Amino acid sequence: MEFQEILPEPESRYDRHKLIQWWDQDRLRSAKVLVVGAGALGNEVLKNLALVGVGKISIVDFDTVSITNLTRSVLFRESDVGLPKVEVARKRLLEINPEISIEAINGDLEFDLGVGDVREKDLIVGCLDSVNARWAINQIAYRAGIPWINAGISVAEGEVSFFDPNTEAACYECTISDRMWKRRNQRYSCQGTKLDIPEKAMPTTAPIASIVAAMEVQQALLYLHGKKGFLDAGEKISLGLNPWSAYKTRIQRQKYCLAHDLTIEPKFNFKYDPNLKIKEVLQHIENCGFSEAVLWLRNPTIDTMGCLNPDCAYIEQINAPLSKFPDSKLACPQCDRERDFEAIENISLAGPQINATLRELCLPENEILHCETARGQIAIQFSRT
Ligand SMILES: [Zn+2]
Ligand SMILES: [Zn+2]
Repeated sequence: MEFQEILPEPESRYDRHKLIQWWDQDRLRSAKVLVVGAGALGNEVLKNLALVGVGKISIVDFDTVSITNLTRSVLFRESDVGLPKVEVARKRLLEINPEISIEAINGDLEFDLGVGDVREKDLIVGCLDSVNARWAINQIAYRAGIPWINAGISVAEGEVSFFDPNTEAACYECTISDRMWKRRNQRYSCQGTKLDIPEKAMPTTAPIASIVAAMEVQQALLYLHGKKGFLDAGEKISLGLNPWSAYKTRIQRQKYCLAHDLTIEPKFNFKYDPNLKIKEVLQHIENCGFSEAVLWLRNPTIDTMGCLNPDCAYIEQINAPLSKFPDSKLACPQCDRERDFEAIENISLAGPQINATLRELCLPENEILHCETARGQIAIQFSRT
């Protein structure tokens, strides 16, 4: 009589997860998460998302690795200094888990990522440390209708909050006080151009970044499983490690906060063509019965700058978002005198900028913009297909 040997099943990567009753690895495999910022928090968040097997991770950051990042960034090495953070992070994350896919976006959430791309995600995890950056995430999250997790850290304190445009709860913008707006605006000149002030270095260490990032990822895991997280929308946990404290608060929704009105389903879809003129877009919309159309840009944009010196009168084509344009470049490059410009915020058929193209307006691919019409506000998508 012959015995057939029963071989134990080979072990697989996610075996320990399978022991968790509510865990659904397939659900995580198909989850799309956008991580904004690849600094101290971002490194820890990304590491954890890769370990648990979140299948489609997009990372956006415009920065390069610096030597000062190495005390808090598990994904970076000394040999990476000077390289784009997102590229380095992508490489290391694929070493940690080759079964997932990583999209590295070396750019700025405010200017380089279309709202349509964000709409395709399940969740945004915010890993940035300024009011301005968080405001920008909140704006794009509410335009796209995608929930987001926010966090902040200092030396031995941290906080995590959760915002969901699909609820009536408070958003991040609801928390911005007059003092915070003022601090945000200190980075810009009266005209709205960018002042050349270096970002203030924050004192912080790896332990607090690990703890707070781990909390963000735990909240993300619960949300992605369709489960109630430890935070409901509009709630915040504040954590202190020295001395210990932890408490949860509900953020007050501000009655006049405009961010909540940003979520609209696109009504028109145009194929993104950099040479497409706004005139063609608005004419099509009006022909479809939406008269008095006014298209609002997400970021006010400078198209040209004209020298005020009559002997020079040099006109330069700029095509840059106003808040990205450095204050130091305001003077005329020909004669060093003052220049005049107007930032385009909206365009109507009767307006002066009607011949501007998508490229001139610095629209990213798959952008979604709001358009006021006689029949109310609609949204227009400029998709890749
Ligand atoms: Zn709000
Ligand atoms: Zn000039």
